[in-house]
Order: sequence, then structure tokens, then C-alpha cells
Amino acid sequence: MTTDNDALLARIDAKRDELVALTQELVRIPTVNPPGDAYEACARVLGERLRKRGFAIEYIRGEGAPGDKDSHPRINVVARYQGAISGGENVHFNGHIDVVEAGPGWTHDPFAAEVVGDRIYGRGTCDMKGGIAASVIAVEAILEAGIAFPGAIEISGTVDEESGGYAGVGHLASLGYFSAPRVQHVIIPEPLGVDRICLGHRGVWWAEVETHGRIAHGSMPFLGDSAINHMSAFIHLLDTELGPKLRERHTAQPVEPPGARVSTLNINSLHGGQVEQTFSVDDQGRPTGDLPSPVVAHTCRAVLDRRFIAEESLESVKAEIVAMLDELKARRPGFDYGLRDIMSFLPTATPKDAPVVDATARAIARVLGREPSYISSPGTYDQKHIVRTGKLNQCIAYGPGILDLAHQPDEYVGIQAMVDSSKIMALAALSLTAGRRG
Ligand SMILES: [Zn+2]
Repeated sequence: MTTDNDALLARIDAKRDELVALTQELVRIPTVNPPGDAYEACARVLGERLRKRGFAIEYIRGEGAPGDKDSHPRINVVARYQGAISGGENVHFNGHIDVVEAGPGWTHDPFAAEVVGDRIYGRGTCDMKGGIAASVIAVEAILEAGIAFPGAIEISGTVDEESGGYAGVGHLASLGYFSAPRVQHVIIPEPLGVDRICLGHRGVWWAEVETHGRIAHGSMPFLGDSAINHMSAFIHLLDTELGPKLRERHTAQPVEPPGARVSTLNINSLHGGQVEQTFSVDDQGRPTGDLPSPVVAHTCRAVLDRRFIAEESLESVKAEIVAMLDELKARRPGFDYGLRDIMSFLPTATPKDAPVVDATARAIARVLGREPSYISSPGTYDQKHIVRTGKLNQCIAYGPGILDLAHQPDEYVGIQAMVDSSKIMALAALSLTAGRRG
């Protein structure tokens, strides 16, 4: 097996140019989300390539799931290669094909996938088409080397991770694609770095708080009751009372960056009073466009993004906010509120002794000659659907690229990092399909 593995690693080295070309091909398809452009084109590049190599291909639209519409159909691809030996276990590489908008500040064309030295520049190189390409090359190298394996290896390209993944991994998980016995181990090649294994993520609760008031003329605000003033009282409490408490709550999980090893709260958005007007001031200093009219705000809404740690429960996180709102209701005249859940996911952590963690750790040691570090993510990613809907707690994120570069201008992925991670994914896949332990 050692010689086999040496030959396999050499083969992946030899496929370096092919790995670069595949990454470029994927990055040049601008699968920007929102709105969810060119998903089908990207899914088909992966699907038709893998079909030629003997994979069984399915295209699954996220029909009925949030985000799916006829103008931008959410097309996922799942490719499965059944090993020649009976028995064994099934390993799934899952990558999201969507990318966020390029945004300003680029010095490279974000969709040209230009190679400069050891880097490929472009939106999605790091997050995470480089990782998808590395997993494809890893599996193709195994097949080309003629290594017989038991079990099955799957590769999927899924949509909408950046907007919650409901029509992507969420939809596939509801159809059983991420559950035993179809799959036992999942590796998500998100850009966590070649020598880091991400075991899970913090929890998240998104909720909308609405305060109510009474509309009146803006020149006589004392005749109304401002919902914005009520909201500002609530935000003041978040800032001065809750904030310091959250910063004191430390988690034992190895969240990266270390600043996220506490509970956090972000006010995602705030909308109060009149709908925003698009007025401006002309060169003579006169207001033009749609001008505001004088009203006291009768409603104000804030979207809260509360990230919680494994040591907290979702119930306690919600109860804490409700208690603050109730306290304001008791002591602040006219204060009334509504609270609406938007979504929530519990913190998740794959056990460190899970086979998928162990196999990847051993492959990292073999290829890089060093021990991996184990981390947890401050934000959620598609593992949340695999754990909650798929009921599969054998999942990690492992892939090339530097996390900090994700969503930034001049995003890039290192070519050597892709080659190394491809080797690691290949060794891990073979070990997992064989059901080898320790
Ligand atoms: Zn990503």
C-alpha cells in the first residue's frame, strides 16, 4: 500500500497543470449569489467531466426550497463512483459552487482566474472552487492509478451556501443524500488551510425585533410615540448590558480567529419610520428627488445576528433577549415589541476521534510532515444541514486557501496548497472507504 500511495501522490503532482486548469474553468463561470447566476453551467462542467470518468451523475434542482426560481434555478450536481470491491464505506466531498459578488478594489479581473506565480486570482478561487478542483483531481488520480477500493466516493457541487444553503445541501439533506447508509463521511473543502481541520461551528440565532409607536406630525413629536426612540433604548441595553456579558462568555472550542471564542451579537440591519427616500442636494443646494415628509416613526425593526457558543443553549440565548425586552416593557412607558425568529442552528462539533478527522489528520502528517491543528468556525456553513437534517455527525471542513481572503478583493488560492490538499484528500478518501481505523 505504501508504494501504491507513493505512486498516487506522484500522480497528483503530475496533475498540477490540470488542477490549475480546472480551477480556472470553474472560476470563469460567474456563479454570483445573489442572485444565483450560471449555476447550471457550473454544475454541468463538473457533472459532464465526472461522467466521462465513470461517475453516475444526478442533477437535482432545489425545487420548493427558498431561493429557487425559474429565472435562477438552483441546480446541484451529485456524482457517485461505486468502488470495485464489496463492503467498505462511503465518502462524500461537498463543495459550494456559488460565490459572493466581486465588489470593488480588485487589481485582477475577478473572473479571469489569472495565474501569477503560485497563485490563481479570482472570486471563488479560495472560497471555494480551488477546493472543489482539488477534490476532483484527488478522486480522478485514484481512478487513473487503478487503485481498487471498496465503498463509494461521491463529489457534489451545491448551490447557495453563501445564502444559507437551503436549496443546496439543505435540500439534498432532506432527500437523504447526506445520511447513512448512503454516506458515512463528509469532507467539505472550504478554505481553512492545508494543515487545519475544522470540526464544526458556533451556533446562530437570527431574529427580528420590532418596536411599535404611534404616528404623528414630526413638528409635534410629543403627540406621537417614536418607535425609533423605543428601539434605541433596546439597542442601548444590548450595547451596555448584554455586550459586556457576552464578551465574558468563553468557549472551550478552538474557534478561529480567537476573537470569536466568545459569544457575539451583531445588529445586522435597522429600519425605522418612513421608507428611505432617494433625495439628494443639487449644485445650488436645493433638495431634489423624493423628499421625506415629517412623521413620527410608528414602527422600527432590527435584525439581530446572535452567535452563541457550545456552552450556551438556544433557549437561554432567546430568553435573555426576551427578558431585556420585557424589562423595557415594564419600565418604559409606551414600549411594546414583537419578536420573530428568522433561523437558528445549534453549535456543532464533530468528535476529534471520528474516523474522518483521524484519516485526514494522518494524511496531513504524511503529506506535510506535521500534525494538524483543530479549529472551529465562527460562522456556520453547510455542515449545519448535514448535522441537523442528515443526522450525520461525521463531517469536517478541510481544504486549501486562506480563510481571511474569502469574500475579499484580490482573493486567491495557492497552487501548491491545492496540490497538497488534493493529496491529503486522496489518502483520506482511500483510508475511509477501506474503513481503516487508527
Ligand atoms: Zn465557502
